[in-house]
Amino acid sequence: MTRVSRRAGEITESATLAVDARAKALKAAGEDVIGFGAGEPDFPTPDHIVAAAAEACADPRNHRYSPTAGLPELRASIAEKTRRDSGVVCEASQVLVTNGAKHAVYEALQTIVDPGDQVLLPAPYWTTYPEAISLAGGEPVVVPTTEASEFRVTVEQLEAARTPKTKALFFVSPGNPSGAVYPPSEVEAIGRWALENGVWVLSDEIYEQFTYGDHRFTSMPGLVPDLVGTTLIFNGVAKTYAMTGWRVGWIVVPPDVMKAAINLQSHSTSNVANVSQRAAIAALAGDLDAVASMRAAYARRGTRMHQLLSAIPGVTCMVPQGAFYCFPSFEGVLGREIAGTTPRSTVELAAVLLDEAKVAIVPGEAFGTPGYARLTFACSDDDIEEGLQRIAKLLV
Ligand code: PMP
Repeated sequence: MTRVSRRAGEITESATLAVDARAKALKAAGEDVIGFGAGEPDFPTPDHIVAAAAEACADPRNHRYSPTAGLPELRASIAEKTRRDSGVVCEASQVLVTNGAKHAVYEALQTIVDPGDQVLLPAPYWTTYPEAISLAGGEPVVVPTTEASEFRVTVEQLEAARTPKTKALFFVSPGNPSGAVYPPSEVEAIGRWALENGVWVLSDEIYEQFTYGDHRFTSMPGLVPDLVGTTLIFNGVAKTYAMTGWRVGWIVVPPDVMKAAINLQSHSTSNVANVSQRAAIAALAGDLDAVASMRAAYARRGTRMHQLLSAIPGVTCMVPQGAFYCFPSFEGVLGREIAGTTPRSTVELAAVLLDEAKVAIVPGEAFGTPGYARLTFACSDDDIEEGLQRIAKLLV
């Protein structure tokens, strides 16, 4: 008998959190590290949300267990928000409040995937998806996309990857790490394909508020309403309201799936912390002014980061369309001697950049796309200037 179960032993460490942890450890040791690793807003949570949480702390109602699926007020406002922003008809009873959208992804897969089921995963993908699929006994089926197609998957590619075992498709727009946003016509075409073929849609809408230029978020079940019976929508307050640490996310699930999802949560985490849920209620009740100013800052920073990356010989980069990531190719740099070593993969390159330039980036291997790397622009303008200058200096 082994000390660690096979199931847990096979999980790979979250590369994005690992890079961030290493960068933070170096920082704590006094090194002047610039972190482009973690995907989290650098803004504080807006004041009115923090005030609502402070008030909630003093209210004894929040000191007790509350319904597993979430506070009724929060579930109602999430349903309303989903109707407004995703154009999806849904009720509060279809909302399960989770410990962040990451937990929502885990629970969703545990709830609908059986051993042997395949889940289509366009790459580059968020690093948690394949692990969550495997933990549910499912098989991630990676469908690669390219920079030439702006990291968008096509119906033809999905159809070629579909088998009788295909249960679901992960669809994420704006995407992490690609920063790609699908136009409505493509969202609809993929949605129709999923509907015709009985493929469930796992629609991760966490970056819905962050799109740039002419790009706009559209929800697949909003465009293809008949998908509601076979779609799970993931979202949360983390990115929109700069609330990553509060851990409030949710899934909107078809009514007949809800009971199983709640049962699962009732035996694992029970209710999400009430104070955080009260903060989320305040976030959803407020206006989107703070979000608009964050979006404007990200737009400016994304443009600048893209400009600085594109100026480095051997680096190419798609203009970020959404989320808060640049996803450049470093293929033209690999195989070159840098600071006495010759990195041949982006994993090796990321190590050299951290050691020599004290800049943390996440290698594309973490997202199923070697040769690329993810840099977040949810950081200060000064960090972007300084960090990119250091990378450029080392790579020229
Ligand atoms: N989905 C995507 C695509 C993400 O990038 C993230 C955060 N990195 C999440 C879900 C999870 O967000 P959280 O758990 O912080 O709510």
